[in-house]
Amino acid sequence: MLNILWDTRNYLFWLASLSILCVLLERLRPWRREQKLSRPQLGQDLFWLIFNGHYAGIAIAFVATWGLERFFAVGSTFRTLSAIDLLTTQPLWLQFVVLLVFKDFLEWLVHNLLHRVSWLWQFHKLHHSIQELDWIGNMRFHWMEIVFYKSLTYLPLVVLGIDGGVILWVAIAGTLIGHLNHANLNISWGPIRYVLNSPRMHVWHHDLILHGHKGQNFGIIFSAWDWIFGTAHMPATDKQPDQLGFHDIDQFPRTLLRRLIYPFWK
Ligand SMILES: [Zn+2]
Ligand SMILES: [Zn+2]
Repeated sequence: MLNILWDTRNYLFWLASLSILCVLLERLRPWRREQKLSRPQLGQDLFWLIFNGHYAGIAIAFVATWGLERFFAVGSTFRTLSAIDLLTTQPLWLQFVVLLVFKDFLEWLVHNLLHRVSWLWQFHKLHHSIQELDWIGNMRFHWMEIVFYKSLTYLPLVVLGIDGGVILWVAIAGTLIGHLNHANLNISWGPIRYVLNSPRMHVWHHDLILHGHKGQNFGIIFSAWDWIFGTAHMPATDKQPDQLGFHDIDQFPRTLLRRLIYPFWK
């Protein structure tokens, strides 16, 4: 229990620090100069930031806790497999890199499903209801997405007996890149753009126009998956989409409560 609280507090510290960093960067060097700090639905986005961040933090801390491993009898069976022991006995930095790549690929797959399966898309619409992109948009997502993403990506790590600290650092890295992807910053990472996702790339994920069959740029941390599987769209110039959102956005509810229950009655 102590571990859960410690990891949650640790995650929330990093969430707050990275959020402040993005606010400062956006004030210092905004990409869209006309974009204001206060905009419609900022209050609602603060709600998502605090509550989604909080629940994500709890979920991460919860699954990162060693105690939970005991609940998974299956964990001990898995741990007898030499391939997993091979990973858990590696230096922490190597575990971090392997897990970051592994987890990000799973999230790329889940994100594809959120766009391609119509009932999942009803939940994901909330994230795409953003019409002015800034860092806080990273936290605008339905609570069910925590269930889809975290259960699929963090739970196997716990069952496999991965170090709680490594899982926490993977979560912090995800928050950093996620915040930056949504930030009002003109960053493309130059030649590294074929590996790492960026604000210049992710803005096209939010484009009203679909440049592929079901959309483009599904990557979270790494853009490499989109380049490899042909779902990347990134103009060479710093051109931006004319309009963000989705086609029936005018029928999407605007109040917080309606947005939460919308996918269920849909
Ligand atoms: Zn999406
Ligand atoms: Zn996004």
